[in-house]
Amino acid sequence: MFPITHGMIGWLIAQPLGTRKSRLIVTVSAILPDIDGIGAIFGTDYYARYHHTVGHNLFFGLSTSIILSLICEDKKKTLSFTLLAFHSHLLGDLFGSGEGWGIPYFWPYLKKIYELPFQFRWELDSWQNLVVTFLCVMLIIYCALKKNRTLVEIFSEQKDRMVVNIFKSWFKNEKN
Ligand SMILES: [Zn+2]
Repeated sequence: MFPITHGMIGWLIAQPLGTRKSRLIVTVSAILPDIDGIGAIFGTDYYARYHHTVGHNLFFGLSTSIILSLICEDKKKTLSFTLLAFHSHLLGDLFGSGEGWGIPYFWPYLKKIYELPFQFRWELDSWQNLVVTFLCVMLIIYCALKKNRTLVEIFSEQKDRMVVNIFKSWFKNEKN
């Protein structure tokens, strides 16, 4: 799945959390596994060798979730949501990363790679991934109308208010 879709799912998971900082941490946790794709800078060999290994396993998820939660006020609650967001990433990849990108969940202790049967997997550039992304956008617009915030809050509260106002004006005009 694309990192932006993982980020949207993570931010949506974070909605019960009361602070922007906690929601930011949970959103980051949903994207962070793809940091192991950074080997692409050094060539396709590094990308193929380390992507879906270093960041896509339980130990990475546990350690990053614990470290990230420590900087939030509500540590226990944030930790449970960061773990949830991390696993949403793995689940998204199990379904939507295509052939040959399974999850080595217990790496480096076990090299076993977990994959769904082929009939449940779809390619990265598939319509299924587009549908998931579209549904996330719809839910984010819903949050704009109901909770007065969008994913943009991760980058800037000021820009987020602008985006929320744009969505609200659209739907206000439709009602009139
Ligand atoms: Zn991934």
